[in-house]
Amino acid sequence: MASPLPGGDRLAEDPVDALEKNLNQVRERIERAAARVGRDPREIKLVAVTKTVAIERIQEAVAAGAMIFGENYVQEAKHKIEEIGHAGIQWHFIGHLQTNKAKYAVRLFDLIHAVDSSALARELDRRAATAGRIVDCLIEVNLSPEGSKFGISKEEAPTLAREMTELKNISLKGLMTMPPYADDPEEARPYFIALRRLKEEIEPTGIPLPELSMGMSQDFEAAIEEGATIVRVGRAIFGERSG
Ligand SMILES: *Cc1c(COP(=O)(O)O)cnc(C)c1O
Repeated sequence: MASPLPGGDRLAEDPVDALEKNLNQVRERIERAAARVGRDPREIKLVAVTKTVAIERIQEAVAAGAMIFGENYVQEAKHKIEEIGHAGIQWHFIGHLQTNKAKYAVRLFDLIHAVDSSALARELDRRAATAGRIVDCLIEVNLSPEGSKFGISKEEAPTLAREMTELKNISLKGLMTMPPYADDPEEARPYFIALRRLKEEIEPTGIPLPELSMGMSQDFEAAIEEGATIVRVGRAIFGERSG
């Protein structure tokens, strides 16, 4: 869809410059959202979501200062992580993890966002023990049947949280959610509030949940206003995904 006219406004932009500009814009929006509610922007981690994004573009994002990358598929991530490495970079697994991939996940990722069953938690614990690691995890909570088809119900989350704190090779860091897709961030806000309330309900039982992973390209500012400590942003940094 390039404009045939010289001087058309899409004409000259170098994709590397565009990426850097997008990244800086997202960072500024994070800072402004934090400032609106009196939060320190340094307590908010930006995960650059790189599913379907080519290795060269991820390297450009590294050069532009992105430090945490989020992947949805173990196989795709493995290839990228082998190529790009871990030096100064964290890799988060944000997709649905199948139990039979747990053994790879514990070796590849710094944080697993979407633990949603005790079977998966126990398998991660077992595989982490074999790998000689302690794996950081979040519980994915399903606050709406129209959102993610994965995630545990909010009624069952406290029990899973309790079970996970008893597993020696898992370190439970917090909660994650994925509201139903909506263009209007105000439609997502009630889910962000619900996740924060769930954290506030579980923490007094002696289970600290410092991290709340919530907010994507279209709604990360609302998520920050409601307490997100991790936002997962793909399209606003890398542009629309082709696949
Ligand atoms: C793809 C994805 C994101 C990022 O979505 P964008 O709309 O590209 O910002 C965040 N979280 C999860 C779990 C995803 O699968």
